[in-house]
Amino acid sequence: MARERFFLELTPPVEAMRQWPHVVILGGGFAGVKAAHALRNQPVRVTLIDKRNFNLFQPLLYQVAAGLVAESDVATPLRGLMENAGNVQVLLGEVVDLDLEAREVVFNDRRYRYDQLIVATGSGSSYFGHDEWREQAPPMKILEHADEIRRRLLTALEEAEQTPDVERRRFLQSVVIIGGGPSGCELAGSLSDLSRHSLRRFFRQVDPDHSRIVLVDPGDRLLRAMDPRLSEAAEGYLKRRGVELLLGGRVQAIEPGKVTVSVKGAEGSEPETRVLEAATICWTAGVRASHLGKLLAERSGCTVDRGGRVVVEPDFSIPGHPEIRVIGDLCSYSHTVDGNQLPGMAGPAVQMGSWVAQDMLARLQGQTMAPFRWLDFGSMAVIGPMFAVADLRGLRVTGALGWLLWGVAHLGFMPAMENRASLLVKWMWTIARGQRASLLITGKPNQHMNVEVGLDAVKALEEQPSQAAVPAL
Ligand SMILES: Cc1cc2nc3c(=O)[nH]c(=O)nc-3n(C[C@H](O)[C@H](O)[C@H](O)COP(=O)(O)OP(=O)(O)OC[C@H]3O[C@@H](n4cnc5c(N)ncnc54)[C@H](O)[C@@H]3O)c2cc1C
Repeated sequence: MARERFFLELTPPVEAMRQWPHVVILGGGFAGVKAAHALRNQPVRVTLIDKRNFNLFQPLLYQVAAGLVAESDVATPLRGLMENAGNVQVLLGEVVDLDLEAREVVFNDRRYRYDQLIVATGSGSSYFGHDEWREQAPPMKILEHADEIRRRLLTALEEAEQTPDVERRRFLQSVVIIGGGPSGCELAGSLSDLSRHSLRRFFRQVDPDHSRIVLVDPGDRLLRAMDPRLSEAAEGYLKRRGVELLLGGRVQAIEPGKVTVSVKGAEGSEPETRVLEAATICWTAGVRASHLGKLLAERSGCTVDRGGRVVVEPDFSIPGHPEIRVIGDLCSYSHTVDGNQLPGMAGPAVQMGSWVAQDMLARLQGQTMAPFRWLDFGSMAVIGPMFAVADLRGLRVTGALGWLLWGVAHLGFMPAMENRASLLVKWMWTIARGQRASLLITGKPNQHMNVEVGLDAVKALEEQPSQAAVPAL
């Protein structure tokens, strides 16, 4: 395989650039993009490699799934983001191997040398050893997953509009969401709003009162990472909007149109088995680190935790390799004041990207940075239109004020101005008119997988079990 200094050969840079150290960043998510931005127009050559050509704002994926906003509102092309960074080159490709001795990354059947490597390839979804459930219950991790959830939901409703059988219509209007964290709650809230408002206006036969949304979680409360009072507020809001909460519920099996759940009984009693029938099933329950974590461990002997995250040093390097930093969801960082591991969230990822880039630049000048300190601004979840819960360093906010803070924070985090503007307009439109801008059924019905839920497709599925799979990330 040819060994190249790609950046130099492709576009001969100015003379001075030839001497600059080459920083390769793997992954253009929150952490990688922040690191690239912090290195922009500095005396380093940067190559940003991602298998997608866009940065994805995952916290708003549920809005794509629920038809509130379009794909392009939550994704920004990486080339656009690096437009004003003359020293940053963006390359499209999936990194499949690392040669730590030669300091090379392997992708697109080529090898590229680095002086410094930042690995920020994030995380994917986990089905806790039941990958066979993926097909029936797509996760919500990449854009195609959100598209697929929306497609299943809307095709089921289209079929309900044409179905005289009331029981079948109830089935087609039922959704089961597994996982009562922020994503599950946000999706449940948004879908209940869709049922109550949009269905009434857009459909003639579908009866919104026949819609059923069930949120299943094994814990005894939703949003377990937040203060119990916020969980209570979120639960109350969802219940008032007709969402059924199945707390203490562990999924035992997922089959086409059916979820079997074992529900914790009262003290001393046996768990009860419940079967939930629904045309649309979504999975927001588990996370596993990108496979590059395991690969790094194999190549370097570094440790990964149970979730596949790379255990890093205080400066995010791995033992014996000060030139390699692992940041974002892929790292397990416990060098905090209280010794607790940093959460897999956008805030820590961005702060890590910024600190690591600055530390690299400081070292190049023979200086040292102050140790990394994470500033915890808190966490939030939007449960419905104009209703969010926010835990801001002990300050707990619910309702419209929470929603306002949530909106400001999310727009602030959104990397492109154009997306901020389009999101703001769509949110305002939805609040003012109760309409959803992006209720589109896109792609051929079986483009993504052979699991069909609407327009007679379940019948076809029962006759011919599917072979295809939901994209794995
Ligand atoms: C549905 C959902 C909702 C969320 N909501 C919130 C929220 O409200 N608040 C919050 O703080 N956090 C939230 N998070 C978590 C947050 O999105 C993540 O913590 C954050 O994205 C992590 O950033 P990252 O840069 O480490 O990884 P990512 O943003 O996942 O980026 C990883 C990048 O690496 C690329 N990549 C992966 N493998 C390879 C490879 N082999 N070769 C090349 N490129 C590769 C991917 O294409 C991707 O662009 C949410 C996550 C999800 C899924």
